[in-house]
Amino acid sequence: MSTDVFQRNPINQPRPLVGHNAVRGDAGLVAAVRAQAGDHADALLDSLDELGLEAGSAETREHGMLANEHPPALRPVDRFGTRIDEVEFHPSWHHMMSRGIAHGLGATPWVSDEPLPHLRRAAGYIAWTPLEPGHGCPITMTYASVPALRSDDALAKEWTDLLASTSYDFGLREPHTKRGLLAGMGMTEKQGGSDVRTNVTRADRQDDGSYRLTGHKWFTSAPMNDLFLVLAQAPDGLSCFVVPRICPDGTRNPVHIVRLKEKLGNRSNASSELEFHGAYAQRLGDEGNGVRTILEMVAATRLDCVLGSAALMRRAVAEASWHVSQRAAFGATLIDQPAMTNVIADLALESEAATHLALRLARAVEQPHDEHEMALRRMALPLAKFWVCKRTPTVTVEAMECLGGNGYAEESGMPLLVRESPLNSIWEGSGNVNALDLLRVLAKSPDAVEAWRREMACVAGEYEVLDRAVDSALSDLQAASSDLVTAQGRARSLTARLAVLLQASLLVQHSTGEVADAFVASRVAGEWDGVYGTLPASADVRSIARRALPA
Ligand SMILES: Cc1cc2nc3c(=O)[nH]c(=O)nc-3n(C[C@H](O)[C@H](O)[C@H](O)COP(=O)(O)OP(=O)(O)OC[C@H]3O[C@@H](n4cnc5c(N)ncnc54)[C@H](O)[C@@H]3O)c2cc1C
Repeated sequence: MSTDVFQRNPINQPRPLVGHNAVRGDAGLVAAVRAQAGDHADALLDSLDELGLEAGSAETREHGMLANEHPPALRPVDRFGTRIDEVEFHPSWHHMMSRGIAHGLGATPWVSDEPLPHLRRAAGYIAWTPLEPGHGCPITMTYASVPALRSDDALAKEWTDLLASTSYDFGLREPHTKRGLLAGMGMTEKQGGSDVRTNVTRADRQDDGSYRLTGHKWFTSAPMNDLFLVLAQAPDGLSCFVVPRICPDGTRNPVHIVRLKEKLGNRSNASSELEFHGAYAQRLGDEGNGVRTILEMVAATRLDCVLGSAALMRRAVAEASWHVSQRAAFGATLIDQPAMTNVIADLALESEAATHLALRLARAVEQPHDEHEMALRRMALPLAKFWVCKRTPTVTVEAMECLGGNGYAEESGMPLLVRESPLNSIWEGSGNVNALDLLRVLAKSPDAVEAWRREMACVAGEYEVLDRAVDSALSDLQAASSDLVTAQGRARSLTARLAVLLQASLLVQHSTGEVADAFVASRVAGEWDGVYGTLPASADVRSIARRALPA
C-alpha cells in the first residue's frame, strides 16, 4: 500500500500515448495496408514513416488539443466597417493544416506518379486526422474537388496543380500567386440539404460566359478556402459552379460570411453560413447537370467520411487499450480482467472491420478504368458510409469508458473524439440518404450487386453461416430491386447487413484467424448481445485485445 497519501507522484496512472509511430505501431492498420497494397506495401509504409512518427508525437497531440480549445472567430468587418469576411484561427490550426497538406493528404494523389497514392493517402489520413479531426474537413474537400473539376478540361488545368500542392499557403490573395490552394463546397441551403433540387440560389449568365450568383448557403465549411464548388439554379436548371474568393480582376468576390455555426464537435473547423451578392462564378459541367457534376466530389468526400470514422475508432481504441494495459484494479491489470479483455477485443474487431473496408474502398479509387472496382465502389460506398459512420459513436463512447473518469475529462482527448464521432454520419448524405442510395444503385447498376457478390465469393466455403447469410442477403436484394418503394422502410437493415458481410469477407481474407472467427461469430452468426464486451466464449479475446495495443 502506498504511503504517499496525496499521490503527488501518482502510481497506477498510465503514461500518455505519445512517442510511438501511429502507422507502424498500429498492427490493424498495417495489416489493412498490406492487404490492399500487395507488393507495394513496404514502400508505402516506408513513405508514411515521417507522418506516423509525427502523428505519434507529444507536440502534434498538443497542437490538436489547442486547435480545439481555441475555435475560429469570424471577423465580418474591419474596425472601419469595411467588409473583410475573415476567419481567425489559432496557430495550432495552421500547424495541423500545414503538416497535413505537407504529408500529401490534400489533393496530391491526383497528380502523383507513385504507385497507389490514394491508398497511401487513406492510410495517412487514418493515422493523422484523429489528432485533430476538424482540419480533416478542408483537407478532404480539397482532395475531393479534383475529380469534379475534371469534368471541364480548362478548369481542371487551371486549378488542379495548385490544389494538389503540398504547400499550405493561408491568406486571401489572388489564387494563382499562391503556392497552394484549398477548396470547399456549397450545396446545403436553409430549405433543403439532402434534397438539393430545392436550391434557390440563382446563377445569372453574363456576356463573357461567366455567371453571377445571388443567394445563400446554410452550411459551407472552411469559408477561408480559396475556391468553392457551389450549386445554383441557372436558366437551364441546377448547375455546378467554381466560385473563387478573389475574382480574376483581383477584386474580392462578394461572398459574405453571415456567421459561424456553434457545433457539438468539430470545433476547430469553421462552418459558416454564406451569402452570395452577385458573386463571380465559372460554370463547371453543363447547365442542368449540377448534381451529376458535384457527385464526383461527394463520392470522394464520402470516402473520407469512412476513412475519418475508421480513424476516430482506431484512435479511440488505441487510447483505451493503452490505458487498460497500464492501469490495475482489483489486483490485476485491467486488460487482463476478463470483462475488460472482452470489451477491448470487441472494440478492436469493430475498428479493424471499419479499417479494412475503408482501405478497400480507397484501393478501388486507384483503378478508375477497372469495371469491377468501379462497380464495387458504387455499391460499397453507401454501405460503408452508412455503417462505419453509424458505428463510430458507439465505439468512441465505449472506448472513453475504458479510461474510467479520466476518459470523461477533456485533457484525455476522448471527449474530442466522442464529440466528433456523429458528424461523419450527418454530412455528405445523412444515414437514411445513404441507405436509400443503395436502392438507387440497385435500380441503376445491376453490375454493382454482382461486384459485391464477387467479393463475397472470395470467402465462399470458409464459414457455413457466412455462406447462408450471403444467400439470404442476395435474395433480399432481389426482393428489394423488384419493389424499391416498399424497400425504403427496410433500406437501413439491408445496407447494414451488406456492409457487415463485406467486412467479414475482408477480415476472413486478410486478418488473423482469431479476428475473423470472432467477427463472423458475433456479427454474422449473432452470438453477440449488441453491446461491446459480449463476444462469445469461443472468441480468443486475449490475442485480439493484445493486437489492439499500440506498439
Ligand atoms: C458541421 C457541418 C458542416 C457542414 N459543412 C457543409 C459544407 O461545407 N457544405 C455543404 O454543402 N453542406 C455542409 N453541411 C451540411 C450537411 O451536408 C447537411 O446538413 C446534410 O447533408 C443534411 O441536410 P439537412 O441538414 O438539410 O437535413 P435534411 O435534408 O432536412 O435531412 C434531415 C433528416 O432527414 C433524413 N432524410 C432526408 N431525406 C430522406 C428520405 N427521403 N427518407 C427518409 N429520411 C430522409 C436525413 O437522413 C436526415 O436524417 C455541413 C453540416 C454540418 C453539421
